Amino acid sequence: MTDTTMQSPANSGAPLRLRGMTQAELEQMTADAGFPAFRGRQLFHWLHRKMARTLDEMKNLPVAFREWLATNAVMGGVKDVVTVKTSQDGSYKFLFELEDGRKVESVLMPDAKRTYWTQCLSSQVGCAVDCKFCVTGFNGFFRQMKVDEIVDQVLFARRHLLTEQPGANFRNLVYMGMGEPLLNPDAVIKSIRLFSDREGVDLSPRRITVSTSGIVPGMVQLAEAETGACLALSLNAPNQAERERIMPITKKYPLADVLDVCRRYRYGKHKRVTFEYVLLAGINDTTDHARQVASLVKGIPCKINVIPFNPNPTLPFGRPETDDVQAFVDVLGAQNYTVSVRWSKALDVDGACGQLAGQHRQRRGIRGVEAPAATPEPTPAQFAHALGDLDFFAPVAAESADEDDGEDIR
Ligand code: SAH
Ligand code: SF4
Repeated sequence: MTDTTMQSPANSGAPLRLRGMTQAELEQMTADAGFPAFRGRQLFHWLHRKMARTLDEMKNLPVAFREWLATNAVMGGVKDVVTVKTSQDGSYKFLFELEDGRKVESVLMPDAKRTYWTQCLSSQVGCAVDCKFCVTGFNGFFRQMKVDEIVDQVLFARRHLLTEQPGANFRNLVYMGMGEPLLNPDAVIKSIRLFSDREGVDLSPRRITVSTSGIVPGMVQLAEAETGACLALSLNAPNQAERERIMPITKKYPLADVLDVCRRYRYGKHKRVTFEYVLLAGINDTTDHARQVASLVKGIPCKINVIPFNPNPTLPFGRPETDDVQAFVDVLGAQNYTVSVRWSKALDVDGACGQLAGQHRQRRGIRGVEAPAATPEPTPAQFAHALGDLDFFAPVAAESADEDDGEDIR
């Protein structure tokens, strides 16, 4: 394997973080340390296939090797799990504490028939992109997540699931939690490779979806990495001017450039981009907006997921009436787009969306659509994302992978 980010004791001064290393890197590390390279492969199996939490669990590794690992490497990943909550709809919410005390959330959800599971991952602590309708954006950016921290969300959650429900079909991943994955592209791409390693978690890359606000260099990097993962673009407005108002990142990466990348590059086996469109009452939800969307994305193999805004008291937006959602969808449907509506589900775990994060968040007041003045650095506790929001994004991944159902209201 040729991996330019290869870690080994020989070429890196940083501590080795085992959960973020590929099998090839672990073998190299093992050989460099004077142990047979196959021990590195066994270590990879323990970490990713058997999801071991400690070196002590790795009984078939010689004590001398485990001692060497304990001295020269760290497992990496999440430090602790503050909360695991189970919802009546079957989903689990995890609040992970990282080694510096920062917190991120992840949600693991079953499909309606409970035949397979989708996990929604965080990729950054906070987010710098500042979309006006997003709680994570409202709170700001703390830091990048490391590869091992991204990966461990899955290792922990999958182990938890399989312990509670042996044989459960852990199938899809979506990078739709906290953060902008394509502003942390190296770590995200490496995590995709680790998740799809046949000797590890062994997920099909076509069941992995990266969602972006439209970071052009990251989109190109993801395409060129040829991971096989799918792309979802958070479109959210049908033209440059209106998108700039709710997603200021559009000034830096104009909508035309973002869509050009969608046209020119291929993501995933089905080569269809998913456009996500959060419907904000009175902002971007008229039938005229829908007509503009239809002509904007014309010619791009795609599907469109319409997401009625999930309200949050800190954000000055509302959810459109069902009739307006229907009218919006009808316009797109009439032009033969594959369009689905993703309704938020009522959550019974700590009430509605964001409640789990809310226990750890301080509010700073209601924000306006115009860019707010610079805000003081938030406390770490503010950054646990309102993952209740994500409960209804999960089927996006299922659909990216499957060309399936969705709650199509047409
Ligand atoms: N940063 C990436 C992935 C995380 S956000 C991105 O923006 O794509 C995942 C999705 O949540 C995005 O499509 C975003 O538009 C949507 N979203 C954010 N806040 C929301 C809210 N309050 N209601 C509905 N969707 C929201
Ligand atoms: Fe960041 Fe995505 Fe939220 Fe925008 S919608 S602020 S990119 S997490």
